Amino acid sequence: MTMYMASPAREGKKLNDVIFQAGAKVQAAIAAYGKERVVNGTLGAFADDEGNVACIPTVETLFRSMDMRDFICYAPPVGLPAYRDAVLKAAFADQRPDAYVAAVASAGGTGAVHMAIANYSDVGDYVLTTDWRWDAYGALCSEIGRNLTTFPLFDDTRHFHVAALEKKVSELCRQQDSLLLILNTPAHNPTGFALSEADWDAVLAIACKEAAQGKRISILVDIAYIDYAGEKNDVRRFMKKFSSLPDKVFVMLAFSMSKGYTMYGQRAGALVGISANTSVIDEFNDVVLYSARAAWSNINRGAMTLLTTIQNDAALCRQFEAERHAFYETIRRRAAVFMTEAKECQLAALPYQSGFFISIPAKNSALVCDKLADSLIFAGPLAMGVRFAVCSVSERKMKGVASAMKQAFIAA
Ligand code: PLP
Repeated sequence: MTMYMASPAREGKKLNDVIFQAGAKVQAAIAAYGKERVVNGTLGAFADDEGNVACIPTVETLFRSMDMRDFICYAPPVGLPAYRDAVLKAAFADQRPDAYVAAVASAGGTGAVHMAIANYSDVGDYVLTTDWRWDAYGALCSEIGRNLTTFPLFDDTRHFHVAALEKKVSELCRQQDSLLLILNTPAHNPTGFALSEADWDAVLAIACKEAAQGKRISILVDIAYIDYAGEKNDVRRFMKKFSSLPDKVFVMLAFSMSKGYTMYGQRAGALVGISANTSVIDEFNDVVLYSARAAWSNINRGAMTLLTTIQNDAALCRQFEAERHAFYETIRRRAAVFMTEAKECQLAALPYQSGFFISIPAKNSALVCDKLADSLIFAGPLAMGVRFAVCSVSERKMKGVASAMKQAFIAA
């Protein structure tokens, strides 16, 4: 007899992770046909030209040289003090806004998103993000009783849909006292899109307008892929706009070591708070500490030490950044092959600027991915389209992927 032990409130809580399922299909194909013949566009990690997940060399050397106690000792729930400073350096580079700022350690970028939702939205409230989005935002909201709602990322001209954002923010602010908006930029997962400086001006104007009417507006900028978006200060220039905002507009950054430091499984990140009002930052430190203690107590000490070592040694940091830049250039070349061929064969890929993924809108993405798999090319079937990981497929294997995808769209 089937037994139900979980609380009735947990009914229906079953994760349908299409990307992990697609990964399983890749492994089966590799077992059947050999690695060389399979194109794995499902992996959300940078892989070398042989398809193996790659570690930035300086990260590997440092990690292997660390004292055992760097791994086994506890750390404070808010993170090691030097790590919190190093996160601020890494997150802002030279674009630190003129504001009070603080960083609190989190279990990866996922943990940072969790802490932002837990503390800057209310139970039963809507949290707003873009329709094209990282799938986990939905579960992160519903797990703690929030509802995720969306606005279209793109308008008809495939620019950031400011009007849709304004309309949705206004609607939600008539229903609730505060609003948390999550924006994943630059190098957005899954499209590779980034908000322009003008887009940011529009976003902040919308937030300020609602704040002037007494609403508390929090904006979480998920910068998980920022280190693969271009020159570090260029891609962070928008952060200067977070200077001297009204007290009721609170900006946070979800910082992650997963992609930028190739430390995916080490689970290190941070939530950064930015406010013109020091009491908002004091409160941030208190509430986020509470969340950290209650969720994971403290995070990977070795990863924190590693970030601190890199950020506090200028020569080492330059070397590390040069190595990471090489990864970024490799991704750019791979993406260029795809986008050039997509143009040639009129595959309607979304405007990719940078990052790990390219997306193509599709109503029947699962079927398209199945058809594509006939050519031993694997992609992620998302609700709004097909996601292809340019971070993990060599330039050589990338050739012909766009036209195979075009054929899969025709066949589906
Ligand atoms: N944000 C986005 C958009 C992501 O794609 C990911 C990981 O895939 C994360 C945040 C969080 O990553 P992690 O928890 O590994 O730091």
